[in-house]
Amino acid sequence: MSNIDQSELEKFDAIAQNWWDPKGEFKPLHAINPLRLNFINSHAGQLTDKSVLDIGCGGGILSESLAQQGAKVSAIDMAEGVIKIAKSHALEQNLDIDYQLSTAEDFATNHSASYDVVTCMEMLEHVPDPASVVHACSQLVKPGGLVFLSTLNRNLKSFLMAIVGAEYALQLVPAGTHEYEKFIKPSELDRALRANQLQSLDITGIRYHPLQQTYSLDPRDIDVNYLLCARKDDE
Ligand code: SAH
Repeated sequence: MSNIDQSELEKFDAIAQNWWDPKGEFKPLHAINPLRLNFINSHAGQLTDKSVLDIGCGGGILSESLAQQGAKVSAIDMAEGVIKIAKSHALEQNLDIDYQLSTAEDFATNHSASYDVVTCMEMLEHVPDPASVVHACSQLVKPGGLVFLSTLNRNLKSFLMAIVGAEYALQLVPAGTHEYEKFIKPSELDRALRANQLQSLDITGIRYHPLQQTYSLDPRDIDVNYLLCARKDDE
């Protein structure tokens, strides 16, 4: 049994052609991208010539930024239409990114301990078994390498902000984008990390400011969207 939810992949495929529209359904991903890039750089430093794997890469918003910094980027996603968009956009931008249709788990079987950095952003809340993806991240990253994850916390505030607010009131993303039951508490993610020889180094919140319509990182507020960095134990 592979760790995919077909209905989730169909949701992304259906709007894949809008991935690079900065005002479209993926506007929030475009908006938060510089913030998560800063967070990655603050822990991983210069990415020039580092090998990076971006899991659940979507149309490649993060993958392209990583490649622009000189990283050797491979990127995987299970939505066929989405990977197509990612490939053609990278070609237009003259960026050399190795995009492949694969699950993290399958990819881990023949790319173990291969990457300096593994990223998996806004994807864990779309799979049936997020801990299995964390396990794959741990297999894929080199000993001493870094894993960056982001997802949505599960509590009343995140329900109100990420579903009621973002999907219905403000319509920042399409209705049905997220299912509350699939949100992941930091404590749950931390348990999965520790079970897979990954030590959490830093965690920060990604906050939306509705009046200014901007985002910022805030380590004191991980109640809704959060981003973390973990290090794989040395051998
Ligand atoms: N990480 C990107 C895109 C996030 S959207 C970014 O933050 O910019 C979530 C992505 O996860 C979608 O492209 C979806 O197709 C992908 N996805 C969902 N389930 C997946 C799975 N089991 N394996 C790989 N990718 C998956």
